[in-house]
Amino acid sequence: MDKRDYYEVLGVAKTATPEELKKAYRKLAVKYHPDKNPGDKAAEEKFKEAAEAYNVLSDPEKRQKYDQFGHSMGPQGFPGGAEGFGFSGGGMSMDDIFSMFGDIFGGHTDMGGFGSAAGGRRARQRQRRGDDLRLTLKLSLEDLAKGVTKTLKIKTFVADQPCHGTGAKDGNSFTTCSMCHGTGAIQQAQQTIFGVNYVQSICPQCQGEGKIIQEKCAHCNGTGVIKTDQTVTINIPAGTAGGSVLTVKGKGNAPMHGGVAGDLLVVVEELPHNELIRDGQDVIYNLMLDFPTAALGGSVEVPTIGGRVRVKIAPGTQPGKILRLRGKGLPSPDGRGTGDQLINVMVYVPEHLSDEAKNNIEKLRGEAGMQPTEAVKNSIFSKLRHVFD
Ligand SMILES: [Zn+2]
Ligand SMILES: [Zn+2]
Repeated sequence: MDKRDYYEVLGVAKTATPEELKKAYRKLAVKYHPDKNPGDKAAEEKFKEAAEAYNVLSDPEKRQKYDQFGHSMGPQGFPGGAEGFGFSGGGMSMDDIFSMFGDIFGGHTDMGGFGSAAGGRRARQRQRRGDDLRLTLKLSLEDLAKGVTKTLKIKTFVADQPCHGTGAKDGNSFTTCSMCHGTGAIQQAQQTIFGVNYVQSICPQCQGEGKIIQEKCAHCNGTGVIKTDQTVTINIPAGTAGGSVLTVKGKGNAPMHGGVAGDLLVVVEELPHNELIRDGQDVIYNLMLDFPTAALGGSVEVPTIGGRVRVKIAPGTQPGKILRLRGKGLPSPDGRGTGDQLINVMVYVPEHLSDEAKNNIEKLRGEAGMQPTEAVKNSIFSKLRHVFD
């Protein structure tokens, strides 16, 4: 028996009040909820472990017995014996756990689709949810900068109309499940060294629905869903970053035999731009300046998200200088300001020169002012050092 101490599981002191227990359990239940951790076995185990611990400690009588005897206690030690809380056998079923939520989270759960607290200890049927649909939307930097509305054509499973998504003829051709008599749950008795332990689980014959289709709906062949072309309009806010996921509730697949449709998840992918590099809300442009303009000054045309603009170049502009075009970046999606465009200046050293040009430049060699001053050397040095900080 490697069972962890229930107080340890919930992370509370042995003297914890019912309110503290509830708070601790609520936190763990949300964190390890299967809907949040699909396919994660470890999370599911933690989820069950926490539920079991809370189930025992929230009941004053069970808690007292647990405090006295710990995990060595067998279920026969409790009044009505069969109420064993998972000391042997498979422990609590998921339905048991979900049925506790009504009490923990109040009548309404924000966990998505569990039954209300009504129904006592009967296994509550978890409402089925369809699969999420995921697609990638490739957008240009310009579209992401100003925001864009896209109409997407998708194929999804939607609830079939003639049977209202049930898969049964006219939506009402059912018989009560003979195995669970309509409760959706079955109890299995397990003989243990402590006596009989009852484990409740979802009825395998009706998968917890409590009813079985008598005559199938011919339109959907009993599945309750039909594949349909749909158009979805989605707004991509200005400033959206590549890799963002936009969720359209209820536009995913409808589940078979009724329930809530999944969501449509649109993953935004930014198409690479020919000339501009995005850096968060800022945009970087590498400008290759010709030598005469760098030396004598002038103006050059540079691309921005909003089109080409002319930028003034001061005489004596050094390579490595960063020019800033304020507000020419992308807006923040939450409306807090707009980024800048940063122009990273490089100076082109000519490679193929005519003899005349070579002569002209040769004359400059040794000319006063052609050598870098100490101040310029230092400024380049400190800039580089800064880069490697
Ligand atoms: Zn059944
Ligand atoms: Zn149908």
